Amino acid sequence: MDLSERLVKERRARLAAERLLEQKSRELFAANEKLAIHARTLSDQIVEQRQVVKSALSEAELLKDQNLRFVEDLDRAHTAAVMAERRLWDAINTIRDGFAVFDANLKLATANQAFLSWFDGQPVAPGVSYDDMLVLFAKTYVDLGEEPLYDFVQRMRSRIEADRIEPVTLKLKNGTWIKLQDRRANDGGIVTLAIDITEQMRIWAAIDVLPDGFVLFDREERLLACNQRYREMFPDSAEAMLPGVTFEDLLRNGLKNGHVPEAVGREEEWLAQRLEHFRAADRVEESVLASGRVILESDHVTPDGGRVGLRTDITAMREQQAQLVTARKAAEAANRAKSAFLANMSHEIRTPMNGVVGMAELLCDTALTEEQRLFAETIRSSGEALLVIINDILDYSKIEAERLTLRPEPFDLERTIHEVTMLLQPRAREKGIDLMIDFDMFLPTRFVGDPGRLRQVLTNLIGNAVKFTETGHVLTRVVGVDCEEGRQTLHVTVEDTGIGIAPEYLDHIFGEFNQVEDERNRKFEGTGLGLAITRRLIEHMGGAVWVDSDPGQGSSFGFRVTLPVAEDSAPVQVPVTVRRVIAVDDQFINRTILERQLAPCGIEVTLCRSGAEVLERLAQDPGYDVVLTDHAMPEMDGVQLLDQIRLAGHGLPVMLLSSNPTGLDSLTNAFAAVLQKPILRSDLYRHLQGLNAPAVETVVEAAPLAPVDLRQMRVLAAEDNRTNQLVFQKMVRDMDIDLRFADNGRIAVEMFQDFKPDLIFMDISMPEMDGKEAARTLRAMGATVPIVALTAHAMEGDAEAILAAGIDRYLTKPLRKTAIEGALGEYCPPEARSPVVAAPAENAA
Ligand code: ADP
Repeated sequence: MDLSERLVKERRARLAAERLLEQKSRELFAANEKLAIHARTLSDQIVEQRQVVKSALSEAELLKDQNLRFVEDLDRAHTAAVMAERRLWDAINTIRDGFAVFDANLKLATANQAFLSWFDGQPVAPGVSYDDMLVLFAKTYVDLGEEPLYDFVQRMRSRIEADRIEPVTLKLKNGTWIKLQDRRANDGGIVTLAIDITEQMRIWAAIDVLPDGFVLFDREERLLACNQRYREMFPDSAEAMLPGVTFEDLLRNGLKNGHVPEAVGREEEWLAQRLEHFRAADRVEESVLASGRVILESDHVTPDGGRVGLRTDITAMREQQAQLVTARKAAEAANRAKSAFLANMSHEIRTPMNGVVGMAELLCDTALTEEQRLFAETIRSSGEALLVIINDILDYSKIEAERLTLRPEPFDLERTIHEVTMLLQPRAREKGIDLMIDFDMFLPTRFVGDPGRLRQVLTNLIGNAVKFTETGHVLTRVVGVDCEEGRQTLHVTVEDTGIGIAPEYLDHIFGEFNQVEDERNRKFEGTGLGLAITRRLIEHMGGAVWVDSDPGQGSSFGFRVTLPVAEDSAPVQVPVTVRRVIAVDDQFINRTILERQLAPCGIEVTLCRSGAEVLERLAQDPGYDVVLTDHAMPEMDGVQLLDQIRLAGHGLPVMLLSSNPTGLDSLTNAFAAVLQKPILRSDLYRHLQGLNAPAVETVVEAAPLAPVDLRQMRVLAAEDNRTNQLVFQKMVRDMDIDLRFADNGRIAVEMFQDFKPDLIFMDISMPEMDGKEAARTLRAMGATVPIVALTAHAMEGDAEAILAAGIDRYLTKPLRKTAIEGALGEYCPPEARSPVVAAPAENAA
C-alpha cells in the first residue's frame, strides 16, 4: 500500500467519515430540532404552570389578607357590641323604671339598679326566684291596704301564668306608685318593666276626687280616661267605659241596653246627632240626666285633636236659683200686696180729706176775721198739699202693684198742654213767671193716647219747672221728630230758667223719693215721687225721659213718645180772612211763637218790642187788620197801648193777650178779645176769624132773648158720706138748682122715677148699691139722663168700668166748685134756667 492509496483510502475513508458525520450531524440536528421543540413545549407548560401557581399564590395571599381583616372586624364588632351592651345597661340603669329579666325557670337573670333598689339591703341577686322576690316585695314594700298578703301573692302569681299578662298598678308604702308590665320572652322567661307612675297617679288622684265628672278622648275618639264621678253620672254606661272604647261604641252600648228611651225607633238618627254633637265640641250647655240631675256639660278640643269634657252637677245651683226665683216672686207679690194696701189706704184717706179741703174752701168763702181766714186757708192749702202727696203715693203704688194700664183714646195734645199750663198759671203768676207753649205749627194736634196719664206727666214736669223757677219763664215746646204712616214721634220739652240741677243729681232725681239735697233746693216741698212716676209712665208708653240742666241757669226736661195720629185729626182752621197783623210783646220767645203761629197761615206779621214801636208803625202804615198786644209790658202795658192807639185815631181791632186777665172785666168790650196766655192756637185762630164776622150777626147775637118761663135745673146727687153731701151742698149753694140727695144707689134709682133729674152726680163707692150698678140699672130702665160720676182719684180699671156702666163722665174728688159748675152748665137742658148765677152776686157776698 501506498501512500496515495492510503491517502486515497484515507481520503475515501475521510470522505465517508465526513458523509457519515454529515448524516449523523443531520440526524443529530433533526433530533436536536425535535428535542428543542419538545423542550420548548415543556418550558411553555412549565411557564404556564408557574403562572397558575403564581396566581394561586396571590389568591391565597388575598384570602389571607381578607381573613386577617375579617378577624380584625370581628374583633372590633365584638368590642362595639360589648360597649353597646354596657351602654344599654348604663342607660337601663339610669332610668327610674325598674327592669328585670327572669329565665324560663323564673329565676332572676338580670335587673337594673332601679329594680334592685326596691330591694335595697335585701338578698336579691341573679338566681333568686320570682316567688321569693314577690313575697319579699309584698311584705316589705307594697301598701296592701285591706288585702291579705296571701291573697295578694296569689293574685300576682296567677297573673303571670296567663298567656297575656295584664298590667297591674301597685301602691308602695313610700307613697310611690308603680305599674308592672310583664312580657313573656321566647325562651319562656319573663321580662318585667316596673314603671314609676307616681306623678301620673297624683294627677289622677286629684282628677278622681274632683266633684265634677272628667273624661278624655283621643283624636280617634277612643276613651283615654274618665274619673269615678263621670262613671257615677252615667251609671248605665259605666261598665262599658274602658280605656280604648270609642265614643260611638259607648253610644251603641247605651242603645243596645235600652238606656236611651228617646232614641227608640230612630237609633241611627240619634246616633248621628250625638256624634255630630260630640265632634263639634267647644260647647258649654246644660242637660238633664235620666236621674233628673241637671248637668253642665263643657267639652273642648285638646291641642292634639282629642276631646276633654267636664260634667258639673248644677242641680243644687238650679234648685237654689229656682228657690230664689220663688222667693223673688213671693217678695214681689208681697211688694205688690204692700203697694195695693198703700193704694187702698191712700184711697181711703182721700175720702175724709175731701171733707177737710172742701169744707175749708167753703169756710174761706164766708165772712171771717183775718186770723180765722189765715187758719182756714192753712187748713185748705195743707189739705191740698196732703192730697198731692197721697195722689203721688197712690199713683206710685198703682204702678208698683202693676195695676196701671193705659187707656188710649183720641185727644187733643195741644189743648191738654194748654189746660195743664192754665191750671198752673195762678202759681206762675204769683211768682211773675211767664208760661209759654210752642206747639209745632206743622204737627197734627189730635193723637191717640192716654190723656189722663199724659196730663199727669205734663203737670209734673211743668209743675216742677214752675216750682223751681223764681224769675223768667217756663216754655213747653212740642216738636215732631219722626213720623211714619199714621204715627208721629213727638218730643215734648219743658224748659225753665230756674235753679237748675247739679250734674251728679241728674240721674238720681228719677229714683223713687229722690230729691236734690242742697239748701237751695230743699226749701221746696214735694215727695220726690213725681219724676219716678213720670219716667215709669212714659216708659210704659214706650217712650223715654231725659233732662239737661245748667245749675243756676235752668233745666230742660223732655220726653219722647210715639203716638198714632187720631183719625179725626183735622188741620187747625186757619184765619184766612186776616192778612196783616202787628204783634207786640217785650219777650222774645213770645214774639217768636206768635210769628210761628201766624206766618205759616199766610199772615204778614210785624213784630214789635214795645207799645211805642207799635204806635210808630201804625203812624207810618195804618193798614193792619189787627193788633195783638201783650198785657204786662214795661213802660206801656197793653191797656195803655189800646188807649194810645185810639188816641192816635186808629179804629183797628186790638186783642189783649194776658197771663192775668182778672179785673179786666170793664175793658173786655174795648178789646176785640182778651185771651188768656198761653194762648191756645185754635183759640187765637178762632178769634182772628171772628174779627171779620159781619157786624149784623154780632148785633143779632147781642140782642136780648125774649124772656121764657124757665124752670130750675133738677140735680140728683147720690152720695153716702154726710160730710161729702154737706161739701157738695155748700159748693152749689149759690147756684140756681133744685138739688136732692140720695144716700145710696138704690135710693137714687128709686128717686129717679119721681124727681126726673136733669143731671145725676153719682158717687161710686156706696153701700147697698154702688154708683156703677145704679147707673147700669138706670140705663137698663131706658133712662138717658146724663150721669157724672164722682170718684176718688180713680183706681186703675175704675175709669173704664165707670164709663162701661153707662156713666157719661167722671169728676175726681176733691170736688171743685168750677168743675161742678162746668158740668151743670154743660148738661143744663134748654127748658131749665142756667144754674150759674151772674158774677155780681158773688162779688156782693
Ligand atoms: P218733688 O218735686 O216732689 O220733689 P220730683 O220727682 O218731681 O219730686 O222731683 C225730684 C227732684 O228733682 C226735686 O225735688 C228737685 O230736687 C229736682 N227737680 C225736678 N224738677 C226740677 C226743675 N225743673 N228744676 C230744678 N230741680 C228740679
